[in-house]
Amino acid sequence: MRILISNDDGYLAPGLAALADALASIAEVTVIAPDTNRSGSSNSLTLDRPLSLQRAANGFYFVNGTPSDCVHLALTGLLPERPDLVVAGINQGQNMGDDTLYSGTVAAATEGYLFGVPAIAFSQVEHGWNHLDAAARVARDVVQRRFDMLPKPFLLNVNIPNRTYDDLGKTVATRLGKRHVSEPVIKAKDPHGRDIYWVGPIGAAKDAGEGTDFHATAQGWVSVTPLQVDLTHQAQLAGLQESLHKGAA
Ligand code: MN
Repeated sequence: MRILISNDDGYLAPGLAALADALASIAEVTVIAPDTNRSGSSNSLTLDRPLSLQRAANGFYFVNGTPSDCVHLALTGLLPERPDLVVAGINQGQNMGDDTLYSGTVAAATEGYLFGVPAIAFSQVEHGWNHLDAAARVARDVVQRRFDMLPKPFLLNVNIPNRTYDDLGKTVATRLGKRHVSEPVIKAKDPHGRDIYWVGPIGAAKDAGEGTDFHATAQGWVSVTPLQVDLTHQAQLAGLQESLHKGAA
């Protein structure tokens, strides 16, 4: 099995090394990751300048671009052979509910999925890399399940509580929960007295009911959510068609 690994925390992140180490024992892995922390970069591609690729001493490749850039480059010209799986992470911090739209970790996996390659994004629920070894072991377990029941390509979003391997509960299939809107923007002054703004912290969970990713990880379980990319609001299609028809009359 050939696995392409990327992340959004950058090529020096401990979560990336832990994931690559864990998967190297079961697959041929190639790591291509952003040169800096690009968390929150979503599915962005760099179109206004060229990208360059460098190789670190440990064999990881790094790109002066986004997670999507990394996977895009890998799949459209860098890799001699198409990987069997694209894996992203392990991210420092949860990617649940609405986070998935902003996440560079999920975006790296999504880029693989868009190219028809099954993909899995891994995140640890808490910041700080506590019990990263356990999360890496879980990631390897999940990859080894192969998901033969799912049509290919699939796109899975995995969130792992920061616990020891033995303290982690079962692995469950979940739906995305929802968050409240972000906290207010934080206003400050730069050293020249000019107004600056920091985007506020993420909001608390709003829909954290049973069956959601928030609920599962709060029980200490490993949450696996199947994602799709089509944003079409199917339930509104008929109503929209009707109002457009009326408007035209
Ligand atoms: Mn990140």
